[in-house]
Amino acid sequence: MIRELQPTIPKWKFSQDYYTRSLKALDTALARVAVYNSWKSSDPGASYPIDARFAAMPALTKKDIREHFPQGILPRERDISRGLTSGEIELVDSSGAVDDKITNIWNQKWWDASERASWKLNSHIDKIATGDHREAILANPRNVGFISDDVDLPMEKRHLSRFLYLNEKTDPLSWSSIHMDRMIEELNTFQPVVFEANPSYLARLCRYIAAHSKKVFQPGIIVFTYEYPTNYHYRQVRQVFPIPIASSYGSTETGYVFMQCEEGKYHQNSEFCRVDFQPLKPRHGGPVVGRILVTPFQNPWCYIVRFDVGDLVCLEESGKCPCGRSSGLILSSISGRKANLTLSCNGRLVTLFEQDNAISILEDVDEYKLIQINTGTYELHLVSKRLDKQYLSEEAKGILKKLYGENANVSIIYESAIAPESSGKYLISRAIFPIELEDYLDVRYIGKRSDRSQYA
Ligand SMILES: [Zn+2]
Repeated sequence: MIRELQPTIPKWKFSQDYYTRSLKALDTALARVAVYNSWKSSDPGASYPIDARFAAMPALTKKDIREHFPQGILPRERDISRGLTSGEIELVDSSGAVDDKITNIWNQKWWDASERASWKLNSHIDKIATGDHREAILANPRNVGFISDDVDLPMEKRHLSRFLYLNEKTDPLSWSSIHMDRMIEELNTFQPVVFEANPSYLARLCRYIAAHSKKVFQPGIIVFTYEYPTNYHYRQVRQVFPIPIASSYGSTETGYVFMQCEEGKYHQNSEFCRVDFQPLKPRHGGPVVGRILVTPFQNPWCYIVRFDVGDLVCLEESGKCPCGRSSGLILSSISGRKANLTLSCNGRLVTLFEQDNAISILEDVDEYKLIQINTGTYELHLVSKRLDKQYLSEEAKGILKKLYGENANVSIIYESAIAPESSGKYLISRAIFPIELEDYLDVRYIGKRSDRSQYA
């Protein structure tokens, strides 16, 4: 039996279309897509409300997609070779960590439509984005753009339709002052309406701009994507770009899932995806903190249902946002990836959001990386120009002991810079031992799941 949700979780509002699309996604998946064959026995049946049917289903994992790709994740009658030949779709690798990579069916038309729908969720971007507006992108070329590590590519070779890719180097630590001056010059010349950036990359450029008091063009809005933006990223970017910033949340598999509105909350892109929320146990932040399972809508080449995107979010407890948008889930924050979780000395889950809020109290820090070695042992890597490192270390240890427990064994390691992972994304925190998120989910909210004997 699925229990009624406790009153602390708001009742979200959805359009009738949302339920119609949810029903279509589930019914098609169960009837005609091979990867869901084993799910049929979990379905309580068409007489049950659609939300209850979804809740009774397992989660779709990257492993499931990998093992059934490509034909097993499509309805029997849909011919992938025809889609590829006609140019309607192409195959792309997701931009996750290397061992986490999967190949996806990429449908550009659908992706653009999903992005356009997400713009409606932020008034600033909704006003200025037309679909043919100029957009500059600062990201790792492994994720998007053109790679050229040896030779610098001239601007025209990085300019594709309305997009300008500012960076062609896979390692941002290799950026010279000449390279960063070029980015500033190009922003001044190109004058993008929207500036989409990997927050850690833009923060690096902003540290340079601030340190050398350079002048830079101010676009209409900065959209953070690809990575979790830390408080340091926000601070460093705001110092140089005192303009609206919005964080956009999505993935290659699911399209645009949440967009941060002008009031700072995250709204579900409910025209283009269903989101199922599974709270953590109260001790670990539930019922407002939990994981999300995403079901994209309206993509004839995508039959992904309850996909475990590997991220945690925090619901907006009031159920409302001052911006007035009311359709779909509203989040107060994105809590970070499952891979970013750490544990306190007494076994409590600590999300990236919580940990970043604690660490970012430290002043004069450019970047950091937190590694949990084992229960009770933490390594904090810091990049700081502060001269009094001993005081900084004491302060940092105090913060981590308060967060993880007085018995925490904390080492502070100073670095001149922190390099991104081979995926091109920065690692902000991680435990080097496995943390099985399913063990921390609140079973009272989950319809059916595999038996696990050890609950945290
Ligand atoms: Zn809002």
